[in-house]
Amino acid sequence: MPKDLCSVKLKRGEYVIRSCNRILAIKWKDKRDVYMMSTKHETVEIISQGSNHTLKPSCIAEYNHGMNGIDLQDQILACFPVMRKYMKGYKKNFYLFDIGLFNSYILWKNLNDGKKQCYVDYRINIAESRLMNMPKPIYRERGVSSVGDAPDRLYAKDWAHFPKHIDPTPSKSRPSKRCTVCQKNKKRKETTWECKKCKVPLHVPECFELYHTVTDY
Ligand SMILES: [Zn+2]
Ligand SMILES: [Zn+2]
Repeated sequence: MPKDLCSVKLKRGEYVIRSCNRILAIKWKDKRDVYMMSTKHETVEIISQGSNHTLKPSCIAEYNHGMNGIDLQDQILACFPVMRKYMKGYKKNFYLFDIGLFNSYILWKNLNDGKKQCYVDYRINIAESRLMNMPKPIYRERGVSSVGDAPDRLYAKDWAHFPKHIDPTPSKSRPSKRCTVCQKNKKRKETTWECKKCKVPLHVPECFELYHTVTDY
């Protein structure tokens, strides 16, 4: 903002401008001084706005009009920050990310006007699709400091998938089911094993490993 604009004293409704390289700087006095810079306006047009026909520079009127949208966006963003707001440096590091994500949602909605999806679901989908190609983090036991590292063999315990026998039923002590991987490959073979976490029947070890390591097994 040009320094000399700041020192100019104005009465209500008056304004001063500077413009250079297609950038307009304006100081306008309403109830208080309003400063604005615009790359959209090269000069100032006075227009009347609102039910009380207040005279305003067009750039300010347009800004106020656009701010209705921004306020709505701020409200939505305030509800779903990517990180907790009280986190140090939130504004600096994540606010732009929030805005970017929200803008992508608007674009996505415009491109898929048939689809109805709320912002929360949209974000969950984005997060899940990102995580799909992400190597899994190494989880450590709660309370165990990262200095006294747990042995490698324990890293998997919080997220890993383990094989177990399919639970017995009253009629069968060792029930078997069709293996998910074999079924997909059009093989009719049964197994007595399943994944404890995924709850799907799988042969151990080959099908079990395939199911958990290959996207298109
Ligand atoms: Zn199998
Ligand atoms: Zn599993």
